[in-house]
Amino acid sequence: MLNIILMGPPGAGKGTAATWIREDFHLPHISTGDMFREAMASGSPLGEKIRKIVESGGLVSDELTCELVKERLSRPDCQEGYLLDGFPRTIAQAEALKKMGEEIKRPLVAAINLACPAEILVERVTTRRVCPKCGASYNVKTLKPKAEGICDLCGAELIQRKDDNEEAFRTRLENYRKSTEPLLGYYREAGLLHEFDGTLPMGNLKVELSAFLRSLL
Ligand code: ADP
Ligand code: ZN
Repeated sequence: MLNIILMGPPGAGKGTAATWIREDFHLPHISTGDMFREAMASGSPLGEKIRKIVESGGLVSDELTCELVKERLSRPDCQEGYLLDGFPRTIAQAEALKKMGEEIKRPLVAAINLACPAEILVERVTTRRVCPKCGASYNVKTLKPKAEGICDLCGAELIQRKDDNEEAFRTRLENYRKSTEPLLGYYREAGLLHEFDGTLPMGNLKVELSAFLRSLL
């Protein structure tokens, strides 16, 4: 049963990896970042509450984040497994996830970490463009869409995320180091951590990740 999480610093390639994994392994892809961006786009009260935090690169409260994930994990499609992307990001969230996994009888089987040095991250994030409609990710230097500014998959116009500027990136990286990096030790101790090289060319990373995930089935 694939009950897994994808971890890594901002720009490590979690979203791109998640897109292949969800297709090849038919898993519901649960990205808290996507959920928060959808809430902001819809103008819901939740979206308005978190907008400033997310756009400046801060972390949304554990309480709000955990509530959202708990609701999502309780839906029937997660009975077949799940792929969490960008959650947990704090020890408190990891503890909450442990409880949720027990409640739905789908405990975590692997924590996949994509490691990547900071110099590469800042370059990737500031040159990234994303599709607001389907979530696909592009890069103006390394992964251009077929038609400039247009999503290959759904035809929507690509945008730059508000938090993909250097200043917000620095805040995200700081939060990552302070709050999220300690999770590596947490999952290593639990025997769940599996590390991958986020600097690999995408094709190679895909081969490695797929082989690993197949070994879990
Ligand atoms: P990235 O990993 O590229 O930084 P994400 O799309 O995963 O971006 O998240 C974007 C933003 O959404 C984060 O910077 C943060 O503000 C918020 N967010 C996402 N997941 C969480 C979480 N688990 N806890 C708190 N805030 C979160
Ligand atoms: Zn698209």
